[in-house]
Amino acid sequence: MTALPQFVCASANPDKVAEIRALLVGIVDLLPRPAAIPDVVEDADTLAGNARLKATAIVEATGFPAIADDTGLEVAALGGAPGVYTARYAGEGCTYADNRTKMLNELTGESDRSAAFKTVAMAVWPDGTEVAVEGICQGRITTEDRGTAGFGYDAIFAPDEGGGLTFSEMDGAAKHAISHRGRAFRGLLDELSRRA
Ligand code: IMP
Repeated sequence: MTALPQFVCASANPDKVAEIRALLVGIVDLLPRPAAIPDVVEDADTLAGNARLKATAIVEATGFPAIADDTGLEVAALGGAPGVYTARYAGEGCTYADNRTKMLNELTGESDRSAAFKTVAMAVWPDGTEVAVEGICQGRITTEDRGTAGFGYDAIFAPDEGGGLTFSEMDGAAKHAISHRGRAFRGLLDELSRRA
């Protein structure tokens, strides 16, 4: 049996790590992010830039190839915001619920509720080689929280291909099949297998 390629997961967010692990199971041997490595300041102005910051920090600290992702929610009525500021939309140290509440308040009375989740999944090797793939999921922002599964903005994001359900009203497999992260990581795996 051929050994699976080993990558350190650069994400420190347990909700994202659980999804990435599910998407890569049986294909990549995903090593946990060493707890001693300090959090990376994600101050790039693009998703790819932030993914690169996270992956490169892990490669430099461990000497292993790393896999990172960065995700942004772009809302049409907000001119594409919050984008790279999606995690801290309601301010530094805010909760997922704070972000959802702020989003719902900003869109009160707004008829154009279209939005897109974008994820850049990136693999970086110690020699500096990198492969990056973007995954996009189009949808709309609901007018209230719906469902309990998932994390982040899942309870207020209804993907166009979701039959009217929010991500929080779907199980993990249904979300992965159409989500920004599912698409980005499946694309990344295609790229990695082409290069193997
Ligand atoms: P990050 O910068 O990639 O960690 O993601 C930014 C923020 O986007 C996270 O803190 C979450 O609030 C949100 N987010 C990322 N992925 C998802 C998702 O799949 N569903 C809902 N919210 C997400």
